[in-house]
Formats: sequence, structure tokens, C-alpha cells
Amino acid sequence: MGSHAICPGSFDPVTNGHLDIIRRAASLFEKVTVVVTENPMKHPAFSVEQRIDFIRRITKSVPNVSVDSHCGLLAEYTKSHEVTAIVKGLRAVSDFEYELQQATFNHKFDPGVDTVFLTARAEYMGLSSSAVKQIAYFGGEISDLVPGEILEDVKAGLGLMK
Ligand code: ADP
Repeated sequence: MGSHAICPGSFDPVTNGHLDIIRRAASLFEKVTVVVTENPMKHPAFSVEQRIDFIRRITKSVPNVSVDSHCGLLAEYTKSHEVTAIVKGLRAVSDFEYELQQATFNHKFDPGVDTVFLTARAEYMGLSSSAVKQIAYFGGEISDLVPGEILEDVKAGLGLMK
């Protein structure tokens, strides 16, 4: 069995910081699936279909990356798809506390999976989907925060003029 990693997250919307982690995961593992997680307790700005479409478009040139979605415990996904690693990006100590808890639970429910942390590159350290939404809401420029291929659709989806 080859190495199969997943990059899970809300990706609401996907940012340049996410893309950097996905690309780096793709160079470390044979197969990478980006898993858009559906959280019924969150109210996303973009539908799961839109979020999947955005990720497909920006990863088109990376052959070993595919995109999927999942609602429920992540361990159910990892067990049923023979996933060997969960790749997460770490930006700050605050990310670490939360991610450590998630990694512990994921391993408890699927002992066959390990979590691998990639540290955020300096230029993406302060970048998050919520920052993109907040900046766009107040009329700020987001062109250097999200990939160019999806920029106009992200702006339109956030209610900004095309
Ligand atoms: P969630 O809603 O589950 O926190 P996100 O979509 O916000 O999911 O993020 C998914 C993953 O990408 C997380 O591991 C997060 O730490 C990582 N990530 C988010 N933004 C960045 C960034 N700018 N640089 C590196 N990793 C990031």
C-alpha cells in the first residue's frame, strides 16, 4: 500500500496558505486527498460543492492531489479510505493546542493513522479563511491572499462586485 495522506479542513474559502500546505503534502506523500469537512455547527460562506470546486481548480496541475468531502468523525474517513497520515498546517501556539487534541482523538479512533504537522511558511503565518472574509467584508484587497484562479468567484461569493 502506498502512502495516502489527507489534508482536512473547512476551506471556507481555500487560501494561499492552504495551497502551500497541500503542495508540500503532495511532495511528501504518494497520494493526497484534500477533504472538505462539513460541520453542521458552522455556517459556511461557501457551499461544500463550491469549496470543492475551488480546490479542484487550484490543484489541477498537481497530479497526485484529489478532492473529497466528509461529514462526521474524521477517523471514519481515514479508516474507510486507508489513509496513513493526516497533514495539518501549524501557524501558532494556539493552533497547536487545538490540533494536538484533534490528533489525539483521531489516533484513538483510528490507531492506523498518524498526524503530521507542517509549519506555516512565514508569509502565510497570519493568513486564515476568516481573515479573508473579514478583510473582504470591509472592502480590503484579498488578491494576494487567495489563488488568482478563484479570486473573482471568491469575491462574488462574498457579495463583492466582480
Ligand atoms: P478548520 O476549520 O478545520 O480549522 P481550516 O480550513 O481553517 O480548517 O484549515 C485547515 C488546515 O489548514 C488546518 O490544519 C490549518 O491549521 C491549516 N491552515 C490554515 N491556514 C493556514 C496557513 N495560512 N498556513 C498554514 N496552514 C494553514
